[in-house]
Amino acid sequence: MEAILTLGLLGGLLGLGLAFASELLKVVSDPRIEAIEKLLPGINCGACGYPGCAAFAEGILEEEVDHLASCKPGKDQHYNAIIQYLKDHPNKDGHIIKTSK
Ligand code: SF4
Repeated sequence: MEAILTLGLLGGLLGLGLAFASELLKVVSDPRIEAIEKLLPGINCGACGYPGCAAFAEGILEEEVDHLASCKPGKDQHYNAIIQYLKDHPNKDGHIIKTSK
């Protein structure tokens, strides 16, 4: 009985510690990355020079991508949607990320 209580208490304390650590160490990513990723073709082919569409979307937001046409499978509809999205969703400081087709 004593062993069960000890293990239960220990498990509870470790669980609380993990919950606290996950809250303290969580990484908040920019929700625009996922939104832009959804506007891309989603093939994850790597033709843009990035390892996938999410990384390309992150590159756009970090202003590393000069031309959206680096995404070879992309079409005007993808590029236009991303350009419009970037106009509608500026950085927190109000800076609008500009990129071209
Ligand atoms: S080229 Fe386009 S479809 Fe291919 S990984 Fe890059 S962003 Fe995604």
